[in-house]
Amino acid sequence: MNVYDSARMAEILAPLGYRPVDTPDLADLIILNTCHIREKAAEKVYSDLGRLKPIKNDRGARIAVAGCVAQAEGEEVLRRAPYVDMVFGPQTYHRLPEMVARIERGAGAVLDTEFPPEPKFDHLPTGEGASPVSAFLTVQEGCDKFCTFCVVPYTRGAEYSRDVPAIEAEARSLVARGASELTLLGQNVNAYHGRDEDGEVIGLGGLLRRLAQIEGLARLRYTTSHPRDVDDALIAAHGDEAKVMPFLHLPVQSGSDTILAAMNRGHTARDYLRLVERLRRVRPDLALSSDFIVGFPGESDADFEATLSLIREVRFTSAFSFKYSPRPGTPASSLDRQVPETVKNERLQILQALLREQQEAFNRQSLGRVLPVLFEKPGRRAGQITGRTPYLHAVHAEAPEAWIGTVRDVRIVGLGGNSLAGELTSDPERISA
Ligand code: SAH
Ligand code: SF4
Repeated sequence: MNVYDSARMAEILAPLGYRPVDTPDLADLIILNTCHIREKAAEKVYSDLGRLKPIKNDRGARIAVAGCVAQAEGEEVLRRAPYVDMVFGPQTYHRLPEMVARIERGAGAVLDTEFPPEPKFDHLPTGEGASPVSAFLTVQEGCDKFCTFCVVPYTRGAEYSRDVPAIEAEARSLVARGASELTLLGQNVNAYHGRDEDGEVIGLGGLLRRLAQIEGLARLRYTTSHPRDVDDALIAAHGDEAKVMPFLHLPVQSGSDTILAAMNRGHTARDYLRLVERLRRVRPDLALSSDFIVGFPGESDADFEATLSLIREVRFTSAFSFKYSPRPGTPASSLDRQVPETVKNERLQILQALLREQQEAFNRQSLGRVLPVLFEKPGRRAGQITGRTPYLHAVHAEAPEAWIGTVRDVRIVGLGGNSLAGELTSDPERISA
């Protein structure tokens, strides 16, 4: 979502004469769009700011801190880095032109961490210029779930869904500018409940069906979803809407019911397994991915074992896993029985080894198969282009650049570290659905 927000910031600033440059040394305005989810990400902001300070001194560049660290630590950012000119949260970046005008007037540092009543989306321009083949589109923001470890409800605010017509207009504009794939974004994307033109509220399943009608759009994805919000309509869309890709990032965090309850996730390990079963019934080739936290306060060896056992049962094709990081203001950070760092490290290694094994097994299964690949950009080597399978595997193949933006049948002939090698099938002109 930060990538999406950063692109929107660039669009808003364009009419003022700003355009993106490749390195901070060339910039007149440097915006750090920050993440507060774990301590490491938040601390990195201050070390990055330290590195940028000389550029400000030498060239008079202005420095801004945007995003969730700005939201959570606004005053603190200005105290620790007094040379920062602007601090603004994720809900106010539509006001960037006013903020920039203010610092250009020399009216002092700007701090804007409000949750304004007017949704920022009403004030953002619809994009101009080429869009990437695979583009992001925010449809939902914020979270009301209050998992006990998580800062998102505090930094991104309450759940909010954009209306269907605005989303559709943005989707059509992205497709007209070259997007073949859209990934719908939201902190809890499947909590989506937006209004259509008749004022009817529709969920994510309905939204996917609406967007699937856009001609020229080949693929739809969405992230991140919560197990509690997967409803029948969404499952059905996975079953019969061909443009909805058979890949789902569905974070479970832990396989222990005790820990899931302490996290306030609102479901058990069994609920999750049943859900996966229902999804696989309508889409047997569905690839699943998840987030995991190891070392949540009170996590015992048996709790951790339960997570490993859930992983063995589901078989994930990819995953993100993290050591629990106590976040200020969240209920879990003040729980007794915090898990020692050494135990967290050990568990993370074991968990990641198991996930890696599953990922490699899945990759091996694709060897020799012919898969539809959406080519997105030039590859690292000359003559190559790279793209993704429906299961989100990166594939590179020798093929003409003109194929970028199209879906082609590719035979998987090799396994690399992070990508697969593909070869064109005997019918290179056929464009798959
Ligand atoms: N809304 C999504 C997750 C958003 S945060 C969901 O509910 O699944 C992205 C991921 O960061 C989470 O899934 C979780 O695994 C991780 N995360 C969030 N807070 C964390 C913390 N305090 N320590 C470690 N990992 C955390
Ligand atoms: Fe954070 Fe996701 Fe839980 Fe919301 S549902 S509090 S974003 S982990």
